Amino acid sequence: MAKRTTRRYNQADEWKEFSTSYLKRFPKADLHVHLDGSIRVNTLWQLAKTQGVKLGASSAQELKKKVVVDAKVKNLADYLKSFDITLRVLQTFEALARVSYELAEDAAKENVRYMEVRYSPLLHLASGLTIQDTVDAVLTGLHKAESKYRIKTGIILCGMRHLSAKRSLELADAAVANMGEGVVAFDLAGQEKDYPAKKHREAFYRVLNANQNVTVHAGEAFGPASIHQALHYCGAHRIGHGTRLLEDASLMDYVRDHRIPLEICLTSNVQTRVVERLQDHPFRQYLDYNLRVTLNTDSRLVSNTNVTRELYRACRTFRLNHYELRQTLLNGFRSAFLPYQEKVVLIRDSLREIDAILGETFPMDDLVVLQDWRSLEHH
Ligand SMILES: [Zn+2]
Repeated sequence: MAKRTTRRYNQADEWKEFSTSYLKRFPKADLHVHLDGSIRVNTLWQLAKTQGVKLGASSAQELKKKVVVDAKVKNLADYLKSFDITLRVLQTFEALARVSYELAEDAAKENVRYMEVRYSPLLHLASGLTIQDTVDAVLTGLHKAESKYRIKTGIILCGMRHLSAKRSLELADAAVANMGEGVVAFDLAGQEKDYPAKKHREAFYRVLNANQNVTVHAGEAFGPASIHQALHYCGAHRIGHGTRLLEDASLMDYVRDHRIPLEICLTSNVQTRVVERLQDHPFRQYLDYNLRVTLNTDSRLVSNTNVTRELYRACRTFRLNHYELRQTLLNGFRSAFLPYQEKVVLIRDSLREIDAILGETFPMDDLVVLQDWRSLEHH
């Protein structure tokens, strides 16, 4: 029964494009979004004005052209240059609280029900804030959004590959000190090439020892060896990007068998030239190989995207059928760094909502059958 249904849905001639307005209705998760890359352009403009910071633009429109990577850049290092601009106005408690609130608000308005926002506190200390101040500021903004909108959030603190191992340790301590207080994981971000994650091994050790979660940017600007290191030296529970995992069959099996989620960011990967074109991204191969793929924005401003758009691009480029759409949406909730009981509620509520929307168009009994055989290993 299950087999017959699957085969029918995989037929190319049954494929139909989902519109953005349809995709916007679904409950979604964003597990990989950088705070400093996800500011509203008008807010960036206003903050620069009120803080007296010169960003080299004479209007918000001009500023947008400077920070948004519409076409491709040369590589990841080039992409990261936009962050030098945004970071200049993100050095105060008020600015951090404001952009955090607005990010959660924007996400909630496209039905993102769960979001883990990440940033590196070390990049926000230029005007005298402490690492803890930055956490308190971001939490203030996120909590305000949570009280107003139907969204749940968490913070991921990022170590930076190019900074010293000692600085990573400070962040690891902050990630541990704020466990249960809104910080859900520790990450390593920044320039991947020439800056191996294992240099920061002690920070990961400290975080893992305290039973805090770990995710690592890997397999984006460097090959599968970087993913291998993230998993086996740093103890990553999730992988940021994992675009080049495809190059190592054995490691790919490991990632599949251990249900390690991949935080895929399609638009960003094209912009930073990890893949030449969207259709070259291994998303379809990963999905068919039963990897736990999730779709994320990376940077809403810099990449000029949101979760709905990422979903739309995935559905259109890789011809996702409604079952695969459902699976991808659920993968986001399943991969949340949340306590098990909370996660189960989130998954259950989202599933009900997803099925209600899908049920308007597709026969529900088929969905139930499909759910059965693929949901044996879920949470
Ligand atoms: Zn990232």
